[in-house]
Amino acid sequence: MHDDVRKSGAFNPYEMAVQQFELAADKLSLSEDMREILRKPKRELCVNFPVRLDNGRIKTFTGYRVQHNVNRGPAKGGIRYSPEVTLDEVKALAMWMTWKCAVVGIPYGGAKGGVICNPKEMTPAELERLTRRYATEISIIIGPHSDIPAPDVNTNPQVMAWIMDTYSMHEGFSIPAVVTGKPLSIGGSEGRNEATATGVLFVTRRAARYIGMPLQGARVCIQGFGNAGSIAARLFHHEGCKVVAVCDSQGGIYNESGLDPAAVVRYKQEHSTVVGFPQAQPISEQELLEVPCDVLIPAATEGSITAHNADRVQARLIVEAANGPTTPEADAILYQKGTTVIPDILANAGGVTVSYFEWVQDIQSFFWGVEEITHKLEMIMNRAFDAVALQAERYHCDFRLAASMLAISRVAEATKIRGIYP
Ligand code: GLU
Repeated sequence: MHDDVRKSGAFNPYEMAVQQFELAADKLSLSEDMREILRKPKRELCVNFPVRLDNGRIKTFTGYRVQHNVNRGPAKGGIRYSPEVTLDEVKALAMWMTWKCAVVGIPYGGAKGGVICNPKEMTPAELERLTRRYATEISIIIGPHSDIPAPDVNTNPQVMAWIMDTYSMHEGFSIPAVVTGKPLSIGGSEGRNEATATGVLFVTRRAARYIGMPLQGARVCIQGFGNAGSIAARLFHHEGCKVVAVCDSQGGIYNESGLDPAAVVRYKQEHSTVVGFPQAQPISEQELLEVPCDVLIPAATEGSITAHNADRVQARLIVEAANGPTTPEADAILYQKGTTVIPDILANAGGVTVSYFEWVQDIQSFFWGVEEITHKLEMIMNRAFDAVALQAERYHCDFRLAASMLAISRVAEATKIRGIYP
């Protein structure tokens, strides 16, 4: 998030999500009745719960689980742990999940969860107790056929294993399909850990071809070095691109002749940041967004590319591995100057798509090999990209508007055909 905006408290992800929704709804001439249904989440659960810390003290945490829409299938979406989690952020992320699942055509609605905490300052035992208690609190609305969580910012397969175990303990038998992104040993899927980054690569290949930009030797800049960012760095390097800059929440590094992502990953494992990596120049997160490059991959959190810096972004292609990294004002500036933006709801949908494969495999108790997963993922991402590109051509608009229109029309259609109960 842009620091000035963050400090002024002006940035509200839910307002941004609604603004994006209205733009697409206008272009679709969606009725006011349908807008009223789709603008707000179906359910917002807020839980305050105590956790015993290692020093014997008790701390009360606040968490959320929001289900935006379930007309196309069970609610689906990750859980994030961060001091910056707010209800409005979770509402926005839940809405984006609804559109994301619709864009790639997988049978889910959208949800998201979050706990306000700083996992970097907690011990593994404290994180486990927090996770198990949060899972218990939200167990009244999650389930393999109602709402299926997954990893997001600062959560991982271990956290999913604790959620799966907690939920299963309450039910009295194992229910792997209640979460995705689990370790392989308990019903996780091949390829899930790399899925977001792999999907980003597939979509980037397609987009690069579409705008006539060779990926071989292309300079790539990645903001964020978590699951999506760090794996994308490795995959893009392997693809023949030059990963010139990466950053994490501590700061960034730049080398115009290209970084070795595997070495950066090793460095981060040792130092818990990329900052200080040898043979690279230190740069700030803001500078990273503006360095000369061909492909910019925001892979951190919301509101990174704003009206303050969109003008200075030099990339020809932006592929959003993060959710909500670009504000609507920045979108307008980027469109004006001819930058192609592949929106989050398309670009990072590889994660939830392989989550869908994991859930299907869990339910049928029959597991696929990694080739099958990767092949199916590629087919889905390519099909979604082509549908969005066609929509953008038809409506003479940017890819975000095109993807949103496609998604919203699919969700509106499902809502309409199901009818209003009672
Ligand atoms: N948290 C990821 C996302 O934002 C994955 C969600 C999922 O797999 O359910 O798309």
